[in-house]
Amino acid sequence: MREKILVVEDEEAIRDILTHYLKKEGYEVFEAECGEMALELINDKRMDLVLLDLMLPDIGGYDVCRSISSKHKIPIIMLTAKNDIVDKILGLELGADDYITKPFDIREVLVRIKVALRRMEDLIRIENKDEETIKLPYDIEIFINSREVYKDCNLIKLKPKEFQLLLILAENRKVVFTRNKLLEKVWGFDFEGESRTVDVHIQRIRKKLGIEKGDALIETVFGLGYKML
Ligand code: CA
Repeated sequence: MREKILVVEDEEAIRDILTHYLKKEGYEVFEAECGEMALELINDKRMDLVLLDLMLPDIGGYDVCRSISSKHKIPIIMLTAKNDIVDKILGLELGADDYITKPFDIREVLVRIKVALRRMEDLIRIENKDEETIKLPYDIEIFINSREVYKDCNLIKLKPKEFQLLLILAENRKVVFTRNKLLEKVWGFDFEGESRTVDVHIQRIRKKLGIEKGDALIETVFGLGYKML
């Protein structure tokens, strides 16, 4: 799959140059012209790297950087016209991985991106021993520790109970669960819910995952309950 790069830069000319060369290198490129847009995109897509301009019209680059690195493990390369050593240190402390000053040589940018991506790959490989994931059909992936679900690399926003329900089924594929068993496992022994609660949640999960009736993933077992294929 092509690596996704987010270019955060308010100057259109610079953004265009970066986007042009990054696409030419084979990356999938997303553009944001302000900090707010950048944070929105980051929450929706699983980006592989962020090129971040320091001087943005709304939220400053440092704050964007801090916000991204507190929630996500994505390499951030800061772009700035400032050639001040203090800025470099501050940027790196806030979670940036690298620093490029403008005007830049595009070849240098590309090399730095490759280095940062490779470094992250190594890191992920080491950490993946801990981060457990479950891969499902239809390009669905569940990240158990961070409790996130992605489909085609897009974050699917599930409520906690929906996540729990999906996880139980995904961890026990081909096992039929009765509605009562699911109620007990997800809502707890004390929950005096109706089995219809389970049906409603299953429907929501199917909808959010874009699983239509024809695409079997969570199957209704008539008279019994549900199972994941
Ligand atoms: Ca700028």
